[in-house]
Amino acid sequence: MSEKKPKKILEYSVECPVCGRSLKVEEYLYDMPLVGKVIISSGKCENCGYKWNDVRLAEVKGPRKIIVEVKEPDDVNALVVRSSTASILIPELGVEITPGPASLGYITTIEGVLLDVLDKIDFLCREGEAPPETCDEKKNLIEKARNAEVPFTFILVDPEGTSTIVSDKARIVPLDKRRGREEK
Ligand SMILES: [Zn+2]
Repeated sequence: MSEKKPKKILEYSVECPVCGRSLKVEEYLYDMPLVGKVIISSGKCENCGYKWNDVRLAEVKGPRKIIVEVKEPDDVNALVVRSSTASILIPELGVEITPGPASLGYITTIEGVLLDVLDKIDFLCREGEAPPETCDEKKNLIEKARNAEVPFTFILVDPEGTSTIVSDKARIVPLDKRRGREEK
């Protein structure tokens, strides 16, 4: 483990996306074990309490797609650094997480992403936005995927090249620079 402490490198203000007042953001450079140098930004609006967080690689890699085929239980422990501009796609599970205007960046694992998806399904089901049969079916599928009983493809689409997945199985596909998407 690295003993280096996060170092504050920048402080600036942006407009709070909730109330429009000033939101102070602080950026820290952190040398993260296994990942390398990352920049962690965090801010909190003094007026409405809105919190914003992001994380990105300090060294920009260029637009790319990072793909992990999950087949064994250990595969879901791969560390995921997801910048606020990156999308997560899992075609076999019907999962699509795309960045919105107030999107947050985070560091988690593939399993952490699945747990997040389960939370969201739970929320939608409680709100009555999905029929109960679909809810159970979806939750079962994600639970099985979490134990690698259902193999799936975890795709991180990273138009800015500031995200990564720490796994021996990670495959990197460069994206078209002008369009920020892969040519079909
Ligand atoms: Zn605010």
